[in-house]
Amino acid sequence: MFDVLVIGAGVVGCAVARELSRYALRVAVAEAGPDVACGASKANSAIVHAGYDCEPGTNMARLNVRGNAMFGALCEELAVPLKRTGSLVLAFSDEEMESVRRLYESGLKNGVPGLKILDAEACHAMQEGLNPEVKGALYAPTGGITSPYELTIALFENARQNGTEFFFESPVLAARAIEGGYELDLGQKMLQARYVVNAAGLYADQISALFGDKCFKIHARKGEYILFDRAVSGFAKTVLFQAPGPLGKGVLVAPTVHGNAYIGPTAVEQADKSDTSVRREAIDELSKAASRSVPTLPLRGAITLFAGLRAMPEPHDFIVGLSPKNPRLVQAAGICSPGLTSAPAIAEEVAKALSLAGLDLEEKTGFDPIRREEKAFREMNGDERAAAIAFDPAYGRIICRCETVPEAEILRAIRATPGVPTLDGVKRRARAGMGRCQGGFCSSRVLELIARERNIPMEELTKSGGRSKLLVGRTREDDE
Ligand SMILES: Cc1cc2nc3c(=O)[nH]c(=O)nc-3n(C[C@H](O)[C@H](O)[C@H](O)COP(=O)(O)OP(=O)(O)OC[C@H]3O[C@@H](n4cnc5c(N)ncnc54)[C@H](O)[C@@H]3O)c2cc1C
Repeated sequence: MFDVLVIGAGVVGCAVARELSRYALRVAVAEAGPDVACGASKANSAIVHAGYDCEPGTNMARLNVRGNAMFGALCEELAVPLKRTGSLVLAFSDEEMESVRRLYESGLKNGVPGLKILDAEACHAMQEGLNPEVKGALYAPTGGITSPYELTIALFENARQNGTEFFFESPVLAARAIEGGYELDLGQKMLQARYVVNAAGLYADQISALFGDKCFKIHARKGEYILFDRAVSGFAKTVLFQAPGPLGKGVLVAPTVHGNAYIGPTAVEQADKSDTSVRREAIDELSKAASRSVPTLPLRGAITLFAGLRAMPEPHDFIVGLSPKNPRLVQAAGICSPGLTSAPAIAEEVAKALSLAGLDLEEKTGFDPIRREEKAFREMNGDERAAAIAFDPAYGRIICRCETVPEAEILRAIRATPGVPTLDGVKRRARAGMGRCQGGFCSSRVLELIARERNIPMEELTKSGGRSKLLVGRTREDDE
């Protein structure tokens, strides 16, 4: 029997797994998808929020500020990119300056360090190309950017390195109380665990109901984005918010840790928890809203559109801690924004809740918090590249030309992927397909490498698991 079963391998489930891997426990993670970061953790704004906009006194406010403070050390231990770019909330009218002042006040109550209200001149000095009508802004120096899927992968790898077992393609379908715990039906197999952590994102309400807790509902709120080519992305040096509206933080203009820029997200309520398509009208909505911050957006430099689904809880706060209905269930549910930022702090609180519920948290000897990551070829200087190629000629074969990803790194990504690698899984690990052509040239080469490395027919490979097959069959069989 496992001591703990974590349901869901998004950033929250993986952060919980990594936190629990410090202790002498048998921990498993069950994930419905083929890989980690299959839900909201793969498609979001990637902002490490400072924490001024959460309602003081809420779980969101507390966990956001604590999570932000933990992020630097975490990213260092796990070799994940983090840039403290700072963030601005721009105001374009006296009324919006008032709302900026309110954010400043709530930031002080939440304990956000270093907040300042800037005048227009200071804003323009921080970011060229801003709308001349900017009146001022709230500046948060602790705001930053990270790579959400790389963080999730790193948490997973470090948890696994420290003994956590992961089960993919393993949706939790049913749960039955047994002596001292639960038996869970994962479709292909049954698992038993003393305690369960619910980190199932959009489906956390359904998982909770399996354990008799129907205290909350989760609905989906879609966020759509436009991503820009690095060559035109100079318009976003820092994170630019606008004074918030009723549906949240509004449309951002922001850089990514890999040097691109994006505008987004929209906020579209929807009943469907799986539809991540981008609406045609999103392009106009986003460009109109974002050009309020930066009037001359290089829209011709857009390279892709994408969308993520926020898991919006009703009532509106993170649900973290022991379930009031079940003493063996710990919730990490309703984790909408700022859930990425809060993930390390949520993981700490989940561990505390498990301890309160009676789980013995004895630190284990040999826990290694460090994930060793090799320097990417694209970041190497000429001498380092020559040495890498001399060591392994596969470094000399560039597969993704947009992002300068050699075959050696794609093979490494394939080997690091659990189960059958998907095109998206390799993309998130090696960056092949992330560039200007969005995989137009390298996707077929990556598929060939997966097929060769894992000895799987190409027709069986998928973009992101399930029915997302990329090839339907052969058009011609070569003669023997
Ligand atoms: C548009 C958008 C913008 C955002 N921007 C930011 C931001 O800038 N900063 C920030 O801090 N936060 C942001 N967030 C929030 C952040 O992305 C989420 O809070 C975070 O990713 C939630 O992680 P999670 O692990 O709870 O959920 P997910 O990543 O969705 O993971 C849940 C996992 O559970 C699995 N699962 C579901 N049901 C089952 C089952 N029955 N059995 C097994 N597994 C199951 C799913 O397959 C999934 O992999 C944003 C979110 C969105 C959508």
